[in-house]
Amino acid sequence: MHQQQPTHRPAADARTVLISGASIAGPALAHWLGRHGFRPTVVELAPALRPGGQAVDFRGETHLSVLHRMGILEDLRRIQTGGSPMTFVDADGKQLLHLPAEFAGGDIEVLRGDLSRVLYEASLPFTEYVFADSVTSLNETATGVDVTFRNSPPRTFDLVVGADGLHSNVRRLVFGPEADHVTHLGHYAATWSLPNQLDLRPGTGSIGYNAPGRLASVGVDHTDPTRARAFFVFASPELTYDRHDPEAQKALLRRSFTGLPWQVDHLLASLTTADDLYFDSISRADVPTWSTGRIALLGDAACGATIGGMGTGTGIVAAYVLAGELSRSPEDHRAAFTRYESLLRAYSQGCQKSGDRTGPFLAPSSKLGLRLRNGMLSRRRILDWMLKAGADVTTLPLPAYATTREGAGTTPTTR
Ligand SMILES: Cc1cc2nc3c(=O)[nH]c(=O)nc-3n(C[C@H](O)[C@H](O)[C@H](O)COP(=O)(O)OP(=O)(O)OC[C@H]3O[C@@H](n4cnc5c(N)ncnc54)[C@H](O)[C@@H]3O)c2cc1C
Repeated sequence: MHQQQPTHRPAADARTVLISGASIAGPALAHWLGRHGFRPTVVELAPALRPGGQAVDFRGETHLSVLHRMGILEDLRRIQTGGSPMTFVDADGKQLLHLPAEFAGGDIEVLRGDLSRVLYEASLPFTEYVFADSVTSLNETATGVDVTFRNSPPRTFDLVVGADGLHSNVRRLVFGPEADHVTHLGHYAATWSLPNQLDLRPGTGSIGYNAPGRLASVGVDHTDPTRARAFFVFASPELTYDRHDPEAQKALLRRSFTGLPWQVDHLLASLTTADDLYFDSISRADVPTWSTGRIALLGDAACGATIGGMGTGTGIVAAYVLAGELSRSPEDHRAAFTRYESLLRAYSQGCQKSGDRTGPFLAPSSKLGLRLRNGMLSRRRILDWMLKAGADVTTLPLPAYATTREGAGTTPTTR
């Protein structure tokens, strides 16, 4: 267990908030709570901030406004990838469809690990971090929530927020089993890093080969051109497998992709030495109410979609609103949680919906479906329409909340 203490001292009577999860939504919430005078503690299962991972994007004025108010917009512009164009090819490598950088990359695209680090640093002055630990029980009383941990001694907090992702621990402990809240949408996704043996050039984005119900793609690493990242998607009914056993997941990938042409066998061979495999069902979280008593859910835990549901942008906006509403009535968390949900539920679900189409879009189930997708998206007008629809769905009039402290970086004025 590794602990990190805040440098800013809040008022002695500041309300304490335990946040489970230190990826995107958790550190964003800690930043805003700190600036509103709360005392946040973040507990994270991993032994340190998790580096690496996929590229994630922000799109539209609302996302950019929140990043600006946090004072991190310029930091993110400095480390953005520049977007990820996608080229789909046939078995001989001939181009069938090219999607421009902004299609997958939005207005700013950054690597998930880089974003997490920026958010963590923006929250550090106000936040106690506890790594390599996890909540084991939550017991709400009239005055707080008594929390036990796997490694740390028990503690009591005024409030608890689960920002621990699609497979949320807090949601399972308080709101019921995962099966009640997470729906498999018919596809699986996997990504891992490998040497750049195909000699992909920076700026070319990713190249993908489709067979019906399958996508095998690879793109050069944005920060290290000697490395590349594979991204595979396949259609499948819900599978039973051990989520903590990468070898079992590699076997599922081999079973689904072996024998396909293009570079698929080469990419599959790199699985043998891959030590950073991410593998998950493309699924959606639906929770009827995002809070109960002193405990609330945020980010993918509340309303996530594995990919394509704009979960990163929604998580950032939701963290801003949740902290802001708590600051409006610090002594009445129930009213704050109710306002948070009524401001955000329809918005989050609107963004989340596009996640339902991600699997069928990336890996259409038939040859006809593939031809239709490639034909339609080769037309610039249809692409522009889809980009505009993406920006529209992320638009939300942002409430203004006065903070008691400035953030780091640029001036956090209203944008
Ligand atoms: C391949 C891929 C591509 C994606 N592309 C995009 C994109 O382009 N745009 C976009 O907006 N989104 C994208 N996403 C989705 C995006 O990554 C998520 O929506 C976002 O990361 C959600 O943030 P979160 O903080 O809510 O949850 P997560 O990022 O899932 O973080 C949850 C955190 O909780 C921790 N945790 C888990 N269990 C416990 C526990 N028991 N105790 C303590 N901590 C725990 C985890 O270690 C993790 O750090 C993509 C996702 C994938 C997989």
